[in-house]
Amino acid sequence: MNKLPPEGDIQASKQRFIHCAQKGILKHAISTEEGGYGDSFTHLVLSHEILGKSCLDNGLLLSINAHLWGSVFPLINYGNKEQKQVYLSKLLSGDLISGHAITEPQAGSDLNALLMIAESTPEGLLLNGHKRFITNTPIADLLIIYARLDNKLSAFIVHSDDLGALFLNQPNVTGCHSATMGDIKLENCLIPKSRQLGKTGAGNIMIQQALELERAFIFAGICGVMNWQLKTVIQFSRQRKVNNLHLGKNQAISHKIAEMKLRLDSIRLWVNECARLKDNNKRITMASAQTKLFAAEAFLQSSLDAVQILGSNGLAENNPIAQLVNDALASRLFSGSSEIQKNIIVALLGTGDGYK
Ligand SMILES: Cc1cc2nc3c(=O)[nH]c(=O)nc-3n(C[C@H](O)[C@H](O)[C@H](O)COP(=O)(O)OP(=O)(O)OC[C@H]3O[C@@H](n4cnc5c(N)ncnc54)[C@H](O)[C@@H]3O)c2cc1C
Repeated sequence: MNKLPPEGDIQASKQRFIHCAQKGILKHAISTEEGGYGDSFTHLVLSHEILGKSCLDNGLLLSINAHLWGSVFPLINYGNKEQKQVYLSKLLSGDLISGHAITEPQAGSDLNALLMIAESTPEGLLLNGHKRFITNTPIADLLIIYARLDNKLSAFIVHSDDLGALFLNQPNVTGCHSATMGDIKLENCLIPKSRQLGKTGAGNIMIQQALELERAFIFAGICGVMNWQLKTVIQFSRQRKVNNLHLGKNQAISHKIAEMKLRLDSIRLWVNECARLKDNNKRITMASAQTKLFAAEAFLQSSLDAVQILGSNGLAENNPIAQLVNDALASRLFSGSSEIQKNIIVALLGTGDGYK
């Protein structure tokens, strides 16, 4: 069974998130009218990599990305004037923490299998259902939750203190462990009609847009962590001696290091290509799927190589190098799995299955 983060860790995760928000990390690629810096996605990528290099914490990066792409950007793209007035500045300053809830116990990749229901009543919208593996749930003040209204997938803003809303602190996963995660149970949860985000039936497109952005940019920060991973193995290979030679003198080791460097720089190129496309108002459906697929698989291979180069030291309990393997495994699942990215790519090429 996974260990759940104790209460102290949840508070620590929240404090780290708020600290980053106060430093302005949430304001990139957002216009000044909306309360952002009015800079570009290229600036966002640069700033997220710097954050990754300084925090070395993929959980914190996941938490920030879930908040940004799961709630801030959907609110910018689909929120009405009142909704933006109520939420946006607080979401950008870290006074409110959020994320998005799509996955359910019986449905992850398959959006058609989502069961959460929203019902329109004279008193408001009545929500019932169960979400699972939702990043930020234990620290969230609100979440964008997807449910079926009139059998059409739609988005709703649900507060953690809404009557009938339970934002739980479990289950967690072993990867990106410092990101808090949990289930959400909505049992006759009544919210005002003004909390519907976007039109009835817009849920599918809203999810695709949110996930496209997350796929395109979540590895900007992770590149910062991978940069440290690479430096760590280089340093080790210089210091460690085998048969009186530095470890790195063995071609089997140095070739692994060359491949790690190539993978890291290739992820950077892909992420920057997504930023270039967004900055030129171009679609990123194909590029973001390619970025996510390539980056997650490359991160996993480099994390396995790093452990192998360090030997048993690399696998020592609590060694952050070993923990990156679990982070990489998680990265192959969140924002749509590697298999789903392949489905998207072939669907866009005019063949293969549909996609989430
Ligand atoms: C760290 C982490 C954070 C997460 N945060 C969030 C969050 O904030 N909000 C949220 O809503 N969800 C979140 N998730 C859940 C994540 O989005 C799902 O795990 C993911 O969509 C896959 O769904 P599943 O786990 O139910 O796997 P399933 O959909 O059951 O798939 C099981 C396996 O089958 C493969 N598969 C499924 N369908 C196909 C297909 N058509 N073709 C080929 N292969 C297929 C999958 O790739 C996978 O390998 C998070 C997950 C993790 C690990």
